[in-house]
Amino acid sequence: MARTYVIANQKGGVGKTSIAVNLSASLAHYGRRVLLVDLDPQGNATTGSGIDKSALERNVYGVVLGEYGMAEARVRAEGGYDVVGSNRELAGAEVELIAIERREYRLREALAPVLDDYDYVVIDCPPALNMLTVNGFTAADAVIIPMQCEYYALEGLSDLVGTLRKVKQNLNPAIEIEALVRTMYDPRSTLTVQVSDELKRHYGEKVFDTVIPRNVRIAEAPSFGKPVILHDPASKGATAHLAFARELLERAGHSVAAGNRQERTAT
Ligand code: ADP
Ligand code: MG
Repeated sequence: MARTYVIANQKGGVGKTSIAVNLSASLAHYGRRVLLVDLDPQGNATTGSGIDKSALERNVYGVVLGEYGMAEARVRAEGGYDVVGSNRELAGAEVELIAIERREYRLREALAPVLDDYDYVVIDCPPALNMLTVNGFTAADAVIIPMQCEYYALEGLSDLVGTLRKVKQNLNPAIEIEALVRTMYDPRSTLTVQVSDELKRHYGEKVFDTVIPRNVRIAEAPSFGKPVILHDPASKGATAHLAFARELLERAGHSVAAGNRQERTAT
């Protein structure tokens, strides 16, 4: 049965989608069976996985509203993982969900029948603490929070933690924060280092050792419809994303060598 991660931060542009796509590709690279669910109407995780979002016959919108199942909507990405894609249609779900029974559980219930097909499910969220994100929280075992080490980052984080506390009390008692991952990291910036230290003081072990550096290969990979580990496997960005997936697996007590595929050597 899959372990489900939701990638969340209500701020836009902090690297959620980049983590969602590259974590999915990296876990697939280590031989894991992965499903990526794009829960953002912007559909960036879909496009970034090389899937044409406007040509999608079935998408997460139909799944969440119960028109068809996950298994009917998933497509295979070049990165070796499955994707349930999204596009602008999903924006309507925000409103339509209000009228629906057990609206916070739609994604959880839709995922249940396919959990045995995967080792990991990765959910990419919109930049808001809205009903779609709540569906992501309710469906997940754990949250991965990408963060840019900027001045307002910690403030935003306490809002997110507050929402998670409510979700834990009312909807999903099992949910935990699994990882805080520092993205677009620049060790030469004093502010980055200060915020980073503060983050570790408050959240301790939840802050992963692996940082994702600011790297142009990561930024340009989506325009090629590829995860960075396929776009430029030797880049610093690719190495960092593989290291992040490896840290996630190792902290959970899994050996990366247990995968079916050999690790590519980054040169
Ligand atoms: P979010 O999903 O939180 O809005 P994205 O993952 O879409 O954030 O990232 C925002 C922008 O920054 C995108 O253009 C993305 O390609 C770029 N980006 C993400 N991570 C990095 C990184 N580590 N280095 C450079 N650019 C990045
Ligand atoms: Mg995004």
